[in-house]
Amino acid sequence: MTATAPREGQLWSRCGGCATLLYRKRLRRNLDVCPECGAHARVDAPERLLQLVDPGSFTALPDRPAEVDPIGFVDLLPYPHRLTAARAGTGLAEAVVCGTATVGRHPCVLAVMDFRFLGGSLGCVVGELITLAAERALTDRIPLVLVTASGGARMQEGALSLMQMATVSQAIAALREAGLLTVSVLTDPTYGGVAASFATNTDVVLAESGARMGFAGPRVIRQVTGRDLPEGFQTADFLLRHGQVDMVVPRHALRGRLVALFAAARAVRRSASRPAVPRQGPSPLVARPAGGAIAATTPGGDAWQTVRLARHPGRPTTLDYLETAFDGFVELHGDRLGADCPAVVGGLARLDGRPVMVIGHQKGHTTAELVGRNFGMASPAGHRKALRLMRLAARLGLPVVTLVDTPGADPGVSAEEQGQAAAIAENILALTVLPTPVVAVITGEGGSGGALALAVADRVLMLQHAVYSVISPEGCAAILWPDRGAAPQAARALRLTAPDLCRLGIVDDVVPEPTPAAHHDPEAAAGALREAVLAHLLPLLDMPPATLVRRRRQRFRRFGAARLGARAGAR
Ligand SMILES: [Zn+2]
Repeated sequence: MTATAPREGQLWSRCGGCATLLYRKRLRRNLDVCPECGAHARVDAPERLLQLVDPGSFTALPDRPAEVDPIGFVDLLPYPHRLTAARAGTGLAEAVVCGTATVGRHPCVLAVMDFRFLGGSLGCVVGELITLAAERALTDRIPLVLVTASGGARMQEGALSLMQMATVSQAIAALREAGLLTVSVLTDPTYGGVAASFATNTDVVLAESGARMGFAGPRVIRQVTGRDLPEGFQTADFLLRHGQVDMVVPRHALRGRLVALFAAARAVRRSASRPAVPRQGPSPLVARPAGGAIAATTPGGDAWQTVRLARHPGRPTTLDYLETAFDGFVELHGDRLGADCPAVVGGLARLDGRPVMVIGHQKGHTTAELVGRNFGMASPAGHRKALRLMRLAARLGLPVVTLVDTPGADPGVSAEEQGQAAAIAENILALTVLPTPVVAVITGEGGSGGALALAVADRVLMLQHAVYSVISPEGCAAILWPDRGAAPQAARALRLTAPDLCRLGIVDDVVPEPTPAAHHDPEAAAGALREAVLAHLLPLLDMPPATLVRRRRQRFRRFGAARLGARAGAR
């Protein structure tokens, strides 16, 4: 289906679009676009840079990735072996190449992803390198260009890879605040956590001809819905038709489009008198709070057992907690754009007499309730309702409490048509700038980007038997093991339990559950949740908004920095 770029040493290659045998040099001269049918073959990061920047102008950023394996992940092969193979196969150190250059004499910072390197997956080092690139753009006051090619977050780094969506998004938020142009160029393929963060929350989104972009991949959607996908689903033209990209650009025209955008942005900046923007230089390498090596075993029971508890249909839901842990809940509905998603509930409530905005995923206890609530899987309308309520809370000066319990975002055709990836990306970015305290509690399942869209917070708490993961154990097993039956092994490898995530610094505190689990004594579970939220929220209430936002950003900035910090300490 997809054309493949010619390999070194081959004189001829066959077009993936029309099967014509093409002379390799001719194909390369044509930027790896088939002269016969126009199919765009995938190009690697070094070749992409050659195509985009002024000759000789590229200087790689000095930061070098470290050898990292933050959760000691092993499937059939240890993760470091896969990294070594990817490095040997690509000649690259990681799945992104970052540097400064000029494009049509306009200076800019570029971060170009390379799909050949572990599917262009977003891990801690990739997140850190792109964040450093964004910070360089801020320091130099020049535009940032992100060329994306990725299958999504890197599951071998567990929830730490999920955190990179927030880390990079807040760096983009800083560029927004400074009035600096950010452009993403979607290339084939761009999916998952990359689609749901920096690929879509930039100022201008270009899709290269032939690119496909979405949150959930076509295989997953077909599997879940059991239906055939519409013609051209998730292609660049589909994205344009559904309002998700600014334009579709053939490879030959990409460079010219960037030059035109840079020129326009520069003209605007020259004509505007801008106030001085506080510089947010590269933050110091902050050590992880819960230090030390990650223990190889999970105390307090087996991870798979915890997954089953987290999914138990009797487990208290967000509406249950609103009845028990909070008072006076007034539910607010609708995204103001045409829909009200039943999988997300929210509104005004009181916590120990204090007004708060509560937003959470809603599952249910019976099959009918679960179906009616789409099993707690939010649609884009649900994310946009949550965004509306967050902004309302900011205007009213109310703290936000989020209750996270979702298998993930809705893997459906209409969700993709309505811009699932961009909706999640915008929520993640909005939470990084919200001038009011945010406390998130993972109460059941914290599933990938759908969970993170409500969990970029000042404090992240987790119920004792909840789980929080970059991918479901079943999904991980299906990709990395020979069969789905390996889900229990995948659950252990992913480090998705509360004690694991506390040690990684992703979660600040574990909320104890009654024995044996929350659904055996929902009242006691609600009491523990109320106590924990209060204990973490109260110290935040008097904090000036600027301090709050700065500290929240530091909290998410350290996930990548700690990785480079580990390297710096090791050498
Ligand atoms: Zn062709």
